[in-house]
Amino acid sequence: MSNSTYSFFQSVERSFDKAAEFTTWDKGLLEQIKACNSVYSMRFPVKMDDGRIEVIEAYRVQHSQHKTPCKGGIRFSDEVNQDEVMALASLMTYKCAIVNVPFGGGKGGLKINPKKYSAYELEKITRRYTAELVKKNFIGPGIDVPAPDYGTGEREMAWIVDTYQSLKPGEIDSAGCVTGKPITQGGVRGRKEATGLGVFFGIREVCNMPSVMQKLGLAVGVEGKTVVVQGLGNVGYHSAKFFREAGAKVIAIAEYEGAIYNEAGLHEDEVFQHRKATGSILNFPGATNIAKSMEALELPCDILIPAALENVINASNADRVQAKIIGEAANGPLTPDADEIFVKKGTLVVPDMYLNAGGVTVSYFEWLKNLSHVRYGRMEKRFTENMNTHILGQIEDLTGKKVSQAERNVIMHGPDEVDLVHSGLEETMITATREIMSIWEANPSIPDMRTAAYVCAINKVGVSYTELGIFP
Ligand code: NAD
Repeated sequence: MSNSTYSFFQSVERSFDKAAEFTTWDKGLLEQIKACNSVYSMRFPVKMDDGRIEVIEAYRVQHSQHKTPCKGGIRFSDEVNQDEVMALASLMTYKCAIVNVPFGGGKGGLKINPKKYSAYELEKITRRYTAELVKKNFIGPGIDVPAPDYGTGEREMAWIVDTYQSLKPGEIDSAGCVTGKPITQGGVRGRKEATGLGVFFGIREVCNMPSVMQKLGLAVGVEGKTVVVQGLGNVGYHSAKFFREAGAKVIAIAEYEGAIYNEAGLHEDEVFQHRKATGSILNFPGATNIAKSMEALELPCDILIPAALENVINASNADRVQAKIIGEAANGPLTPDADEIFVKKGTLVVPDMYLNAGGVTVSYFEWLKNLSHVRYGRMEKRFTENMNTHILGQIEDLTGKKVSQAERNVIMHGPDEVDLVHSGLEETMITATREIMSIWEANPSIPDMRTAAYVCAINKVGVSYTELGIFP
């Protein structure tokens, strides 16, 4: 059977089975880890602005409750179907396990094109969906915590939390029923850039591993590396920004209208502003146009970051991709055929399943903030600043020397919420990268880093189920 004859959920199961061979778990336990525990398929009517009644097709899937609550975004898209939501929910279980976020996987989807509805219609649809979830006990800070995904954002999350709170008055932790909320509604600072920053932290850690760099014939460290980014949306923009700030050179950026190339490096924000002003990234001053956007993926570079769509690197172009490292910022940018080609070529593919986990990691921090009812940094910021000022004063007195004002600002600074969120994300991505790499190193017959990531996930979920025991 060719890859295309498998459904999305079946291909996730295939990758799981491939990785399961490198574990020693009981077959039955592996079946349990793989299965979607609860699938809620619903239909509900909503009255549109013109008085018509439309029946909305919607889903919420809880793949695993080995840790609770379940966690995963809600997607508004014409393409939504039960199989897709099941696949995405299972990927969430594995993703959370790898980055040590103590949640089971979940996902929601509404089969609608949000562009076809007015804001008021979307509000009614979102609120009704939330009410359906409440009725069936499919949402709650300790049960299942949705987040944004394709076609949804802060606005929808604010409607969800408001609906939940009106149906569950007095529930003290109710703000934790959904994440990705606006800051004023219990959101956390640092969420917007989280996925791009996580991509950067993950790749930087790989680049800091001498044995890995030696195999790829690259120097250790991110500095000086050439990077090509596909997609200048949220994830692509922030990935490019953090690579540039760390001294890497973003030599090409691809968007759907074409790509631009400059050997000396591109500044993502200047490109972004140019696109905003002219409607296209093409004709950016100092850069060369590449008319066929996809050709940018084949440029010689050290690191390729596909941050736009799924399946962009496949059997038809993988052979021509020259990057040494591919960081899967998007979900599913490589097909299984491309994976096989890169194993043969010795290209390192850093898998989406954990590399783009920055969003869910920071969602976890948002949920913790909601349960603790206090902003990160509020308790310690002034204390730390006062203590640092005191220590610095003592050092200056004892040495008779003065520290420069710039250094003084750095040393004295007590942590703000965004500092702590970035720091927590950095720790998470470094730990996850090391865990996956050590599994791969310990078993060289594992073909690629994706399989090693699955093994990492299966082992963690396996331990969790084993410790829970089987409820009679
Ligand atoms: P986005 O909509 O902000 O950005 C996507 C960008 O890709 C847009 O600028 C779009 O114009 C561009 N694009 C579309 N078609 C293209 C093409 N053919 N060639 C080149 N560029 C093209 O979306 P995003 O939030 O940045 O998400 C990008 C990917 O990352 C998706 O696969 C998403 O599932 C994944 N992801 C996002 C997050 C997150 O927190 N936003 C988290 C995990 C994974």
